Amino acid sequence: MIVYEKPLRDGLQAIIANAIRDNGNNTALSPLFESVIGCTTAITDSVRQNDPPIKPLACEAGCSHCCYQYDVGVTPFEILCIAAHILETYNKDEQAVVLDKIAMAEKKKRSLPIEDWGYGKFPCPLLVDEKCSVYEVRPLVCRAMNSYDGDRCRQNRETPRNDSSVPMYGHQYEIAKFARVGIQRGLSDVSLQNEILELVPALRIALTTSGALLRWLAGERIFEEAVSRLPPRSGRPNDKEATNGDATPDSILNTTEKPPRRLNHDTS
Ligand code: SF4
Repeated sequence: MIVYEKPLRDGLQAIIANAIRDNGNNTALSPLFESVIGCTTAITDSVRQNDPPIKPLACEAGCSHCCYQYDVGVTPFEILCIAAHILETYNKDEQAVVLDKIAMAEKKKRSLPIEDWGYGKFPCPLLVDEKCSVYEVRPLVCRAMNSYDGDRCRQNRETPRNDSSVPMYGHQYEIAKFARVGIQRGLSDVSLQNEILELVPALRIALTTSGALLRWLAGERIFEEAVSRLPPRSGRPNDKEATNGDATPDSILNTTEKPPRRLNHDTS
């Protein structure tokens, strides 16, 4: 039985909405993000104790197959936290490198016909030496990714047209997804732009738009151009492999959408 859907979804919805209502333009996103991740991590740890993975996960530092996608789906809240982290911790040269990588990624994305978007395998501009350079503030969808089979991940990256579902620890996937829904609902409650965005253009906007945070907090739809354009994919994870048997990933987004079969960093 899933015991974490409601606490995550409704709890994070309230945390996000109340914090922004109480603080308005003075809302500090980083502590709020830490609260979100703290709740998500606590629930993940508890679920892992009660219903652990059926075998060791293949994920390890330096394995980055799932960081090669057409793009990565993020909420405005998450991308603004990542941008703040970059602006606070990177020097000017390092920031320029990120912007160059974003420009390259956008060029590659534009070169791909729409029917091939689902097969794009471009390195995330935040990937450095096959490691996430913003690991502490990485998006929830990146935290959802996991795999029992690293070879399957590699094959899917190398031959994306022949990809197959990746066996995974389903609870980790679902917990991150429900947390993301909670964020989206909380933002909706305070009338802020809340759609899933494509990370690459969204990060460019967040890094280069003057007063991005304040404008977004004022209700401006500054990320319009970055709203995800990928069509919803059909199918769902390989449930028998993907979960430990009792987790059912229905209605993860609380819509008629199903989680993607390809189990990538979906932007749907
Ligand atoms: S944000 Fe980090 S974890 Fe997510 S795809 Fe980019 S490099 Fe990988």
